[in-house]
Amino acid sequence: MTAFATAPLPRSRDDALAEDLADPLAAYRGAFRIDESGPIYLDGNSLGRQPEATAPAVGDLLAEWEHELIGGWQGWEQRLFAVGDEVARLLGARPGEVVISDSTTVNCYKLAVAALDARPGRARVLGDANDFPTVRYVLEGICASRGLRLELLENDPGEGLDEAQVAAALDEDVALVCVSGTNYRSGSTLDLGALCAAAHGAGALVLVDLSHTAGSVPVDLERAGVDLAVGCTYKYLNGGPGAPAWLYVRSALQTQLRQPIWGWWGQKDQFAMGPHYDPAPGIARFLTGSPTMLALAAVRAGIAPLLEVGMDTLWDKTRRLVALLARRVEERCVGLGARLASPSDPTRRGGHLAIAHEHAFSACRLLAERGLVIVDFRGPDVIRLAPVAISTRAVDVWDAIEHLAAVLADPAVREARPRTRFT
Ligand SMILES: *Cc1c(COP(=O)(O)O)cnc(C)c1O
Repeated sequence: MTAFATAPLPRSRDDALAEDLADPLAAYRGAFRIDESGPIYLDGNSLGRQPEATAPAVGDLLAEWEHELIGGWQGWEQRLFAVGDEVARLLGARPGEVVISDSTTVNCYKLAVAALDARPGRARVLGDANDFPTVRYVLEGICASRGLRLELLENDPGEGLDEAQVAAALDEDVALVCVSGTNYRSGSTLDLGALCAAAHGAGALVLVDLSHTAGSVPVDLERAGVDLAVGCTYKYLNGGPGAPAWLYVRSALQTQLRQPIWGWWGQKDQFAMGPHYDPAPGIARFLTGSPTMLALAAVRAGIAPLLEVGMDTLWDKTRRLVALLARRVEERCVGLGARLASPSDPTRRGGHLAIAHEHAFSACRLLAERGLVIVDFRGPDVIRLAPVAISTRAVDVWDAIEHLAAVLADPAVREARPRTRFT
């Protein structure tokens, strides 16, 4: 299944079509609900497509609720942990190290506070000045309430944060390093193993947000030595809008850490309804309240095709499509005022590519209004293109860049347009 990796990239639309015919993942496109007369979708890193299996899976859960009523929780509780173990397989984590819970934002808060409580007396927290806003805001709030110093490391927004830069900022006063594995704008990636080695050398803990990594870029959390991680399930994991997030805590740390939301689902003997909080021994202590079982059914349907294919095969295809995108952007869009806003070193790129253009917003709107391509705008001037491997074809990449080039060459792209809230 690694047939993609070595062949030369398509040089023509016919080459792209031939590549798709030989694609070992071609059949998986049929596992998603896709209107083939609709626009090309390169925004699966904002919201993954809907699997065919999702509606039946949610229907099954509705039937269980109807017939089993409260008795359903017996099986539902087990399923909660089973789906966590399935996500763990996508992350190089062990069973019992991942659980589905809350939102990414809430999980980031829970794990950051747990980490800081485990490093008392240290006053510094390191983050990335170009990180996804929720990560920066959560850290800002925690540091403000505890009197800690948050240091967001400045870096080139296209090239991204470098693990060496983090290493240089570390000392014995740093409690926590909290960054993203793959940057949400540029798609730049970090060497998590090197990052963790440096942080641990200074005695700090590492929390990574893998929202743009899980299901796209392979990681081995165990080998890299990552302490804590969070991520969402509605991007590459296809769990649906607002699907619950996941969190990871390295097993050796679980009993040492306490998270700040002392809810009954994290309690050791939940149904004793005892007078005081006494956290469960394993990953369950990082739960808060009742899990969202209807949404979990959709999460399971979303990750099933990824588990079947495996991250290495997905990554082979992702790298090829990203490389094709980058080359076509060079060939077709750079002469029209676009420039690459992703790392210049292809080995530091994740599963999406960013390009900057003065009229990026108008270009995105024109592509959408004309029913051609759905891409993502990130202010002030970035277009994100995500050729999600499980359902995107080489010809989609080819055609999308042709459409983008046509729009960039169209005088209409220079007309001012009202901003929309969701882009
Ligand atoms: C998408 C994303 C989130 C989303 O957080 P929610 O709480 O689910 O809204 C968080 N972090 C990163 C890095 C993201 O890309």
